[in-house]
Formats: sequence, structure tokens, C-alpha cells
Amino acid sequence: MDLYTEGDPIADTKAPDGPIETRWERRRFEAKLVNPANRRKLTVIVVGTGLAGGSAAATLAEQGYRVRSYCYQDSPRRAHSIAAQGGINAAKNYRNDGDSVHRLFYDTVKGGDFRSRESNVHRLAEVSVNIIDQCVAQGVPFAREYGGLLDTRSFGGAQVQRTFYARGQTGQQLLLGAYQALERQIGLGNVEMNTRHEMLELIIVDGRARGIVVRDMVTGEITCEFADAVVLASGGYGNVFYLSTNAKGCNVTATWRAHRKGAYFANPCYTQIHPTCIPVSGDHQSKLTLMSESLRNDGRVWVPKAKGDARSPKDIGEDERDYYLERIYPSFGNLVPRDIASRAAKNVCDEGRGVGQSGLGVYLDFADAINRLGRKAIEAKYGNLFEMYERITGEDPYEVPMRIYPAVHYTMGGLWVDYDLQSSIPGLFVIGEANFSDHGANRLGASALMQGLADGYFVLPNTVAHYLASHPLEKVDATHPAAVRARADVEDRIQRLLAVDGDRTVDSFHRELGQIMWEHCGMERSEAGLRKAIDEIRALREQFWQRVKVPGSGEGLNQSLEKAGRVADFFELAELMCVDALHREESCGGHFRAEHQTPEGEAERDDERFAYVAAWEFTATGEPAVLHKEDLNFEYVHPTQRSYK
Ligand SMILES: Cc1cc2nc3c(=O)[nH]c(=O)nc-3n(C[C@H](O)[C@H](O)[C@H](O)COP(=O)(O)OP(=O)(O)OC[C@H]3O[C@@H](n4cnc5c(N)ncnc54)[C@H](O)[C@@H]3O)c2cc1C
Repeated sequence: MDLYTEGDPIADTKAPDGPIETRWERRRFEAKLVNPANRRKLTVIVVGTGLAGGSAAATLAEQGYRVRSYCYQDSPRRAHSIAAQGGINAAKNYRNDGDSVHRLFYDTVKGGDFRSRESNVHRLAEVSVNIIDQCVAQGVPFAREYGGLLDTRSFGGAQVQRTFYARGQTGQQLLLGAYQALERQIGLGNVEMNTRHEMLELIIVDGRARGIVVRDMVTGEITCEFADAVVLASGGYGNVFYLSTNAKGCNVTATWRAHRKGAYFANPCYTQIHPTCIPVSGDHQSKLTLMSESLRNDGRVWVPKAKGDARSPKDIGEDERDYYLERIYPSFGNLVPRDIASRAAKNVCDEGRGVGQSGLGVYLDFADAINRLGRKAIEAKYGNLFEMYERITGEDPYEVPMRIYPAVHYTMGGLWVDYDLQSSIPGLFVIGEANFSDHGANRLGASALMQGLADGYFVLPNTVAHYLASHPLEKVDATHPAAVRARADVEDRIQRLLAVDGDRTVDSFHRELGQIMWEHCGMERSEAGLRKAIDEIRALREQFWQRVKVPGSGEGLNQSLEKAGRVADFFELAELMCVDALHREESCGGHFRAEHQTPEGEAERDDERFAYVAAWEFTATGEPAVLHKEDLNFEYVHPTQRSYK
């Protein structure tokens, strides 16, 4: 059977044309408005309370809409966004080092290896400057310089210092800002907050998204909830690999359920492998820890020149070290983008020059920076990250270099959305990491927070208004046949999971799935490996439905049941990721196909054949997905072989 079929091409019909600097302004002006008195009659469901969902819910409520907000944590402020460490980009040019909206736009299109839309990225760069003002007004304590001005630092893929930060806790501080704005609206009665509720299905009425089916994770109660529009801000799916830097709860269920109901899933194979994570230390691990990219501002990456050199780093002299990023990429040095740094680390380890017991590690060394700036200065910038490293590894990074290795971190793929952030299902909007929109095949560091907040504070509130103003909708309730069916599907699935009553834990399946994905759909992919992975995933999925053991019932708190539902969705997503990676016969950004590389081992794109977004349509379980191509056109940044040399 074919792995996929090809359908009609698609286009982003909402994207305005004309000079790129005017497009967002024009779209905003041309968008319909809702009269303030009518807004309170309209309801929007927002699934997710991270930076994207939290900012969207707070802003929509501030505008006067009625918002119903959902998350599976016990508090909106526990969303995974809280883990973000290093910073958030903005084209403020406070340093006067040559930054501009155009440069951020250029860096991002190039950084994404020319696989993103120019219009979207330009809008992101424009809006980036408003985000910082908004967050400062909320009281977000960004780091400041001695004179009181906001401080910035460098992140990969840029030669300017445009990354605003709050020590190593930028996500936490930004989320507290969004959370306070959200809480204010909860207090005013404009947002109904539903914590510990998991969306398990989308309700579509007359072709439009009108609601969701949720399970109360404490009581087990399943209900249908309705609105005039639904926004998914449910985050990324890196946990399909089991081991990743994501919070353990991160999953694909909300977007996958929407995909099964007709929302196209775009570029699922684009995964970001972050170069600076604490290496895997054994089979016992269920999660990996990121060491922020900001550390590459001052840390120097190296391995011994000689293979198998097991001496302590202190005993390896300067002339015996290979600062390979500085050597291969002298212009960007240690601050090359993540895809490039990760592959370089893999290459030196494959050559037998990796460090640590497993040989899967490289050094990130702060000795020079400590000598130059003093320990106090390093402590002030990165203290909490150093402490975290020491607690996990038992090694003091002020004294010995950190050991780092690439790990799964972020997913550039997600539900396909148009310029208005609307999916292929009318009335279903998708924001933040859950959509595919702005980063192409590789995300530059500190751009996820920027995108999540751009979507939530500035883009979505305009585009949802246009949708709501254009479509007066009938009232629906739980007796509508579409709702009855959606709810029955959820109940049936829960019963099926409980009924298997097999002999293997959910986690054991998840771990095995993750191993298949890491080996064949991770840092390097090949046709043979991907075909093997698809067969293995299918076989393991079959076993899952015959042997999984989900203890307890659906009547109350049951974490095994929650996990089982998520892993069942990961199985389906994993297969689509491999099909997407297999069909994309080129290398671009984080998608590195062994068959397509330059003589120097860099990613080799094929713009003639693959300069498109791959938007996948679900057909039926076990049936091949349908590929719709959206052509990418570049008017402002001419696609070239990316070079950071
Ligand atoms: C360790 C780490 C450090 C990072 N550091 C940075 C950084 O310095 N700079 C940067 O730009 N990016 C960074 N990132 C990336 C960035 O943090 C994320 O991409 C971003 O926070 C995602 O935000 P989000 O709002 O889209 O989703 P999330 O913050 O993941 O929020 C998802 C929300 O959806 C809810 N949800 C999901 N599914 C369901 C469901 N089925 N039902 C109900 N609710 C649901 C969850 O409860 C949660 O509230 C980092 C990522 C990691 C892992």
C-alpha cells in the first residue's frame, strides 16, 4: 500500500500582498471588527494557558469577549512555557548594533532554511518590538544594565544582541506576566478557567469548529463545551521521542484529535534537536534537561583532538583541544544555529572524539569567560543554570567544563494555519508551538517565546474578531448530533483502553516508540531507516492495543489512563512524521537526510522540488494520508545555501 497520496495544492488565501512592510497593517485594517457591545455575546474557547494561550485568553477577555480557558495542570501558571530559560528576541536595536525589523526577518527566514512564509515572519519581526513594551508594562523583570536600560544577549543564528532575558528564567517571568493578566480577567468574570481538564475531541458543526469534549481529570466526568470559535494553544509534541527537554505532560492529543477531524498537519517531521542538553546517563531517565543556549554566549564548545582521549579536561592542553565550532564556522563560532551545532556535535562524537562515559558528549567550557569577566559576573548571568547542572551531574561547572549533547527540544511542525492563524477547519485557530507557522525547518533560539506572545497578544485577537464578525452562528448544545457523536467517541476510546487489560505499562511502550523515533527520525534520517521505523511503529502500535495495561477506571483521577490516550495519539503522529521525513527528499534545517548533504556535510536543500509546506490531511485510520503542497515564494530573502562560516 502507498504510504501517502497527493491531493490538490493549497494556498494561504488570507495573506495580503503588496510591500511586505505594509501587509500586516493592511490585513488589520481590512479585518472586520466586532462592536464592543456585541463582544460579550460571543464566546471563545482557548485550550492552553502557556505563553500563547494565556496571552490570547487575557487579551480576548480584555477586549470584551467571553473566554473559556482550559489546561490540564492544576494552575494555568504551570504550563510548560514556565520552563523557558534563555530569552526572547525583539528587534529593538537598543544596542545600536545594526539590528532592525528587516534583519530579524532576514535572520529568521534564513535560520529556518527557507522553509517558512515571508509574510508571517515579517509580521513576527514587526510585532516583536511591541511584546517587550507590553511585558515591561506588566512588570516582567527583564535583566537591566547598570544604567537601568534593558539588557540583551546573543542567541544562535544572529550577529546582533537582540535577546531580552530574565536571568535563566525568562519563560517563568513572562508567564507570570501573562498569568496575572489572565487572573485579572478571571477575577472580573470574563474568563472561566477550567484547570485539570483535558480536551479529548473537537466538535464540528456544519463544517465549523464549535466546541470541545473535555474530561475532568479529577472526577472523570466527560462534558461537551461550546463556543463561537476554538483556539488551540496546546504546545509542541517533542515528547513523541519519550526523552526530550519538554515537560513530561507535553503531548499531541489536542492537535491530533483536531487533525483527525480535518485540520491539516504541516511539516510534522521538522523537529528541533537542541545542542546543549545534559547527556543521557542511563535507562532510568524519563526526561532530559536543557542547558540554555544563552550559555554559548560565554561558553566555548570543544572536544579533544585525539580520538578516545579519556583524560580529565584539565589535563588536556590548549593545543590538544578542538574548538570545532570556532574552527568550522569562524563568523558565528559557538553561536551557530541549533541544527548546525547539533550536527557538528554528532559528527565529532561519531568520529570517536566524544567525552564522558558514553562518548556522547562535548565540553562547554567557561574557563575563559571566568578569567575574563570574573566568577561573579558569570554567576549573575547564569547562576541558576550552573546550579541546576551541578545538582543533576554532581560536577561544578565553575571548575570543570559542562558536558552537553543534543536532545529533542522543540517541534516546528504543527497544525497548518493561514495568515490569520486559522486552521483548515473554519473557526479553529491554532497559536504558539501548536501551529507550524513561522520557523520553517529550524527555529532560532529565543524565537518561540516571541512567536507565542506575538500570536496571543497581537495577531489572534485581530484575526479571531474578523472571523466572529463574518459568521453569525446558531446556538448549539450537547444534544446536537455532532456533540453526541464526539462525546461517544471519547467514551468509547477510554473504554477500549481500559478493556485491553494487558501486561505492559504505557511507559514501556512510550519508551520503545521514542527509541525508534530517535534512531530513525532524529538527528539524521535515511530512506532505509525511515521505512524500517514505519514498520516498527505499526507493529508496536498493534501490540499496544493488545497488551497495554491501564489499571483503575475512568471514574476519577487516573494518570495511566491519561498517558495511554496520549501515547496512542503519539503512535499515529510518529508514523506521519516518518512519512513526512521520507517524502522530503532533501535536507533542510533540523531535517537532515543522510542522502542529501554537501561535500562538507551540510544540509543540501532542493528548492526546485521541495520549496513548499507539506500539509497532511487525515483520511481514515490505517489509510494513507493525503499530501497538500503550499508553495513558498521568496521575494525579499533570496534562498541561498545557508552559510555561517
Ligand atoms: C527547557 C526549555 C527551555 C526553553 N527556553 C526557551 C527560551 O529561552 N526562549 C524561547 O523562545 N523558547 C524557549 N523554549 C521553547 C518555549 O518554551 C516553548 O516553545 C513555548 O513556551 C510553548 O508555549 P505554548 O504556549 O505554545 O505551549 P505550552 O507552554 O506548552 O502550553 C501548552 C498548554 O496547553 C495545555 N494543553 C495541552 N494539551 C491540552 C489538552 N489536550 N487539554 C487541555 N489543555 C491542554 C497545557 O495544559 C498548557 O497549558 C524552551 C523550551 C524548553 C523545553
